[in-house]
Amino acid sequence: MTVARVVLDIPSKELSSAFDYDVPDSLREDAVIGCAVLVEFGSRRAVGHVVAVADSSEVANRKPVIAVLAPPRFDEVAADLARWIAQEYVAPLSDAIRLLLPPGSVPEVVKNDSGWVLKPPPVSAAEERVVEVVEGHHFAPGTNAHRQRAVLDALTTGPVTMGELTAALGSVASTVKRLEQAGAVRVSLRRRFRDPDVRERSAPRHERLSGGQRDALEAIRVAGPGACVLLHGVTGSGKTEVYLRAIAEELARGRSAIVLVPEISLTPQTVGRFRSRFGEQIAVLHSRLSAGERFDQWDRLASGQARVAIGARSALFAPVHDLGLVVMDEEHETSYKQSSAPRYHARDAARRLVAARGAKLVLGSATPSMETLHSCRTGETACVVLDERVGGGTLPEVEVVDMGQEFLNGNRSIFSDGLARELRGVAERNEKAVLLLNRRGFASFLLCRECGHVPGCDRCSTSLTFHESGSLLVCHHCGARSIAPPACPQCGSPYLRRFGAGTQRVAAEVSALVPGLPVVRMDADTTAAKGGHEHRLAEFELLESAVLVGTQMVAKGLDYPEVTLVGVVSADTTLHLPDVRSGERTFQLLEQVAGRAGRGERPGRVIIQTYWPDHPAITAVARHDPSLFYTSEDADRSALTFPPYGRMANIIVTSHSLVDVKACSGHVARALGERVPERWEVLGPVPAPLARVKDRHRWHVLVKAPPGTALPEMVRRALKEVKTPRGVTLAVDIDPLDLA
Ligand code: ADP
Ligand code: ZN
Ligand code: ZN
Repeated sequence: MTVARVVLDIPSKELSSAFDYDVPDSLREDAVIGCAVLVEFGSRRAVGHVVAVADSSEVANRKPVIAVLAPPRFDEVAADLARWIAQEYVAPLSDAIRLLLPPGSVPEVVKNDSGWVLKPPPVSAAEERVVEVVEGHHFAPGTNAHRQRAVLDALTTGPVTMGELTAALGSVASTVKRLEQAGAVRVSLRRRFRDPDVRERSAPRHERLSGGQRDALEAIRVAGPGACVLLHGVTGSGKTEVYLRAIAEELARGRSAIVLVPEISLTPQTVGRFRSRFGEQIAVLHSRLSAGERFDQWDRLASGQARVAIGARSALFAPVHDLGLVVMDEEHETSYKQSSAPRYHARDAARRLVAARGAKLVLGSATPSMETLHSCRTGETACVVLDERVGGGTLPEVEVVDMGQEFLNGNRSIFSDGLARELRGVAERNEKAVLLLNRRGFASFLLCRECGHVPGCDRCSTSLTFHESGSLLVCHHCGARSIAPPACPQCGSPYLRRFGAGTQRVAAEVSALVPGLPVVRMDADTTAAKGGHEHRLAEFELLESAVLVGTQMVAKGLDYPEVTLVGVVSADTTLHLPDVRSGERTFQLLEQVAGRAGRGERPGRVIIQTYWPDHPAITAVARHDPSLFYTSEDADRSALTFPPYGRMANIIVTSHSLVDVKACSGHVARALGERVPERWEVLGPVPAPLARVKDRHRWHVLVKAPPGTALPEMVRRALKEVKTPRGVTLAVDIDPLDLA
């Protein structure tokens, strides 16, 4: 007897386990792990994926597999990884299995000559029609002879695509059709490898490595199967060159590699560096490709034609053969955590994957996450520090301005005197400046303009979030709530105000300050359109002298030698996020900004405006000494048992009905409270920082557990008991990176 364990691919159905089906003799050869099958589920037919094959089953009355729809698309190790993701992140197994399927897969079947098959993959956009002359055919023009002649002339130097013909001659479809019917030309579909976003860029191979680079490469070489190595190196320290060499060594051994970069860094420049080294062995998986193009890239990896996959988070599941190395650049980036189910973190999933495949994991960052640094201390990760820029270059001068002091001196503008002066200087010297507003739309807080005090929670050391409705201050960790005070609790000033200016306002103030200096705005509004991000940056690049005003995303576009001034309008916005990681985020952002300014010939200058000038995240950047931040932050996390010294789960309840949301989140908190062991904490329910989205109310419950405990399992069991009324949605975020 052969039994297939099948995960049903039913959209919006939260099926958390696999079902057993009998495999008829006729299908025994084909029904293997990873293939898609057609089965009966209830009274309907459904597509499923085989995750295991067994020779016995405890389930009685099994139904048979009706048909095998597609050859295997994943193996046992991948299926195990999906199972782990579903368990660890309390997500439906079918959602986890989808991570492994080719892009564009839909659980639909069609009937063809050989029976039922899976609906074919999306038509490749990289497929094109090619026209060529049929040798030896005697051409006898009939009507419309000159058009036909023109087409044939265009084909004399060799085959030409329809696209090129049309570009040269205008619409030629009917003419080509006539020629084809006459047997004069042949039209065929050609699949051409096309990667529209990739510009080839020559990247020299550096023969002489720096000391740090040699150490890094050696650490990777000696790392055993399943091991992890962190390259802790400033921007420009040559980490990418190390990745390239380590990959080359794996390829020489016949193995493959996966390179993960944050979505926003998946630029033509980045990909170009890898392509210039590895050419056609590269497959790029990214969301800007059409479904067909993405399928092509996936297929090139699955067939073994390509052996280096580059992509964002989900490229971790690329079907490479014999995985030897996973590289994760900018490992601290939050985009490595998926924000919809399954809410997995690619770094943790990568650790599992390399262990299972006997491969290695290389993490790189100038500002590693607290989690990764912790794993270096426990010995789980090897750490190599690259503390020098290979090309030399001086670090910019960083000046911190105390905005509370500015206010006391009578300056009520959003620019300090120093920043205003520098902006005028930029205009006079015909240079460029970047103004950064590290603003996150959802969380607002109160800040005293005179003393800089921000009301915070005594228990959690995080800022209280201001909720306009009812003028409430809420702690999003423990749920403490209070009425917002009318004056500053610390100094009594009445200037206790809601904080934060938008890019629009900053742009307007720049124009008022320096009339005539062009201002380019870059934020979620101005870059919403496809390619908007690149457009804005290109606009800025073309201007001779200009100011770029934007949110976090501009930090990535700071690689301009001609930028001589970077102003951080307010470091406080991220410092006061209702989140344990607010200090870490601020440090990472400021460090990135400081690391990128002044890369050209003229020295760079960074001005950080803040009401909290002695916060370790700020002093560490100002004094170019990261340990100032890491040491103090680590002590705080440890004292409050926050990650990496504890685990968290965030359960978010949403509905149109506030009554339902309150009731249901109350049930969630009670179900959890009754189950969790003594040292755990259940906090809430409270309104989420983003208390309302698209007319849905959002409340959340937070669970804090010691490290190494079965937090996901506990949450799963507790939630099983909670009945969700119609229209109420529960989302579980294990190890959340933010509490939005
Ligand atoms: P990172 O990835 O750490 O930011 P890169 O690998 O991009 O650093 O290196 C920064 C610059 O230095 C690149 O232009 C790269 O080509 C160059 N570079 C890297 N390694 C060397 C080397 N050993 N000698 C000279 N230049 C190098
Ligand atoms: Zn005050
Ligand atoms: Zn609190």
